[in-house]
Amino acid sequence: MTALQLLAYIATAIGLQCLLAIAILIWRKRTTVAEHAVPVVSARTSEAAWDGLRAFQVTARTYEDLAHTQCTLALAPVDNAPLPPFKPGQFLTFSLAVDGPQMPTRVTRCYSLSDTPDPDQYRITVKRALAPPDKPDAPAGIASGWLHDQVRIGTLLDVRAPSGQFIFVDDPKSPPVFIAGGIGITPILSMLKAALADQPERAAHLFYGVRNSQDHAFKTDLRQLADVHPGLALHILYADPTAQDVQGQDHDLPGFISLDLLKQTLPYGRHAFYICGPDPMMKALIPALLGWGVADADIHRESFGPQTAAPRPVASPVAGPTLAIRFRRSGRTLDWAGRDANLLDFAEHNSIAVDAGCRGGSCGTCETRLISGRVQYAAKPEFDISPGHCLLCVATPTTALELDA
Ligand SMILES: Cc1cc2nc3c(=O)[nH]c(=O)nc-3n(C[C@H](O)[C@H](O)[C@H](O)COP(=O)(O)OP(=O)(O)OC[C@H]3O[C@@H](n4cnc5c(N)ncnc54)[C@H](O)[C@@H]3O)c2cc1C
Repeated sequence: MTALQLLAYIATAIGLQCLLAIAILIWRKRTTVAEHAVPVVSARTSEAAWDGLRAFQVTARTYEDLAHTQCTLALAPVDNAPLPPFKPGQFLTFSLAVDGPQMPTRVTRCYSLSDTPDPDQYRITVKRALAPPDKPDAPAGIASGWLHDQVRIGTLLDVRAPSGQFIFVDDPKSPPVFIAGGIGITPILSMLKAALADQPERAAHLFYGVRNSQDHAFKTDLRQLADVHPGLALHILYADPTAQDVQGQDHDLPGFISLDLLKQTLPYGRHAFYICGPDPMMKALIPALLGWGVADADIHRESFGPQTAAPRPVASPVAGPTLAIRFRRSGRTLDWAGRDANLLDFAEHNSIAVDAGCRGGSCGTCETRLISGRVQYAAKPEFDISPGHCLLCVATPTTALELDA
């Protein structure tokens, strides 16, 4: 080999190495950009989340109960970017384009995440809301009916990031007692699974009350959890067992979850209670637990809307001086005379359209800029309100107001 040939080989080798280095640099830069592009870090919570609505596609759909009243939807993001983890117990807020002759075109509703975090998909479980028994002629629930009847695999849904303060907080000094009534099982199941995944041997109780085997959701999943985790004590109660329901097989006890049952079942000592269920259950159990001496801080609770609003105090209507409330974008000024429980009710009663979700201070959908004036809250809202804003669903005015609505 001549010196010239050797030089050419060396030059070619150096050139190839340079090309390789450039390719690696470009590849690294692209990966970094992709990692930084999503998920967006929310300024408000400092957790990974996204702002506004994100499109999700329904990827699976299955019923959880024999009566087919509780439907699980698996949701994958259309942008295929990994999903931020949520805290078990949190919920998603949906802006749903429901259709139909007598329906509004968009409604906002919250649905709890019913499984543990998964970077590829979220899961919710929706109970079909029927007309109340004392008002059988009332229209059935809009959003839940639409999700059951119209949504199929492939349907796109607009979703806000997970939120909510009803979350599992692990404390070795107070073992968890999960209490669910009906569809209140959704956040409870997410918490229970996460708690057991974290510490498979931990002691935990689940009290789950349903009507009977027809609406007993997640039956197989719960039995499997109890089989795998010997520290989990399951207590399934049927309020109205069918003739075919077998105690000891389908359910453990007839009747409702009561303080007496908790006293008989739970070992002596401090416990952390996590409760989600219908209004009568919450109204009966929470005061009973407090009366038993359980600290308020040890009773974590969630209600699924104004019809089950017992646990969270809302400012009660009070008569007082009339206050002028200006809705700037609607161009209207109205007199607040203390007849409405909150500013959201007040706006709606006066036909001012305001987007609202949970109606209990949790989801932040009705957060509105407070241009001037002051409001009050009967209890600190769960949602972390931005400076200069207020949450209409739980706020009442203490002065004249100007709202950006
Ligand atoms: C934080 C949070 C988490 C939630 N998680 C879940 C969950 O995991 N799963 C779930 O299924 N739900 C959950 N919900 C409840 C859910 O958001 C909806 O409230 C529920 O699906 C009912 O909505 P809808 O549009 O179907 O009913 P709506 O149309 O809002 O009606 C509600 C009820 O009022 C009745 N009604 C309608 N009009 C009248 C009238 N004129 N007179 C009397 N009654 C009337 C309806 O028949 C229905 O029973 C959650 C709520 C919150 C706040």
